[in-house]
Amino acid sequence: MTPQNQILLIPKIERGFVIDHIPAGLGIQVMALIGRWPELEDAVVTLGLNYKSTRMGRKDMIKLQAGSLPPRLLQMLALVSPGVTIKHIDNFEVIEKVVIQVPELFDNLARCLNPNCITNAEPHVATRFRRVESGSRNFRCAHCERVCTLDELAGHIKV
Ligand SMILES: [Zn+2]
Repeated sequence: MTPQNQILLIPKIERGFVIDHIPAGLGIQVMALIGRWPELEDAVVTLGLNYKSTRMGRKDMIKLQAGSLPPRLLQMLALVSPGVTIKHIDNFEVIEKVVIQVPELFDNLARCLNPNCITNAEPHVATRFRRVESGSRNFRCAHCERVCTLDELAGHIKV
């Protein structure tokens, strides 16, 4: 298949968002996150897997025809797949482009990996994880001090 054919598999959208540079294999997980939002239930979504990327080798991509993206969805993307690019599209043009970074803080997005943590015993207590240092992928629980990796937290997203 030629590169041109691959591009045609996902048509341009007039209005909405492109979630680009998703590491190959994570696209389905990101789709599952999007499915959690009732306000995105009616959005037309296209999922592209295994596109060739000069930067990443292979990548997944999602196009969402929606008026806005829930802020909490963006925070979850930062947890599951930091480094993705969000392009805001209007009239077929990119009007805004943001690269999702690893934040300093995750508020109530993931469960603590320490089974004895108060947040696991008392589910109404919100979790909070703070990055141990700038540039790190390790986060410390504000309640029990347990250090969890980004990947561990991504595997324990709160429902
Ligand atoms: Zn904890």
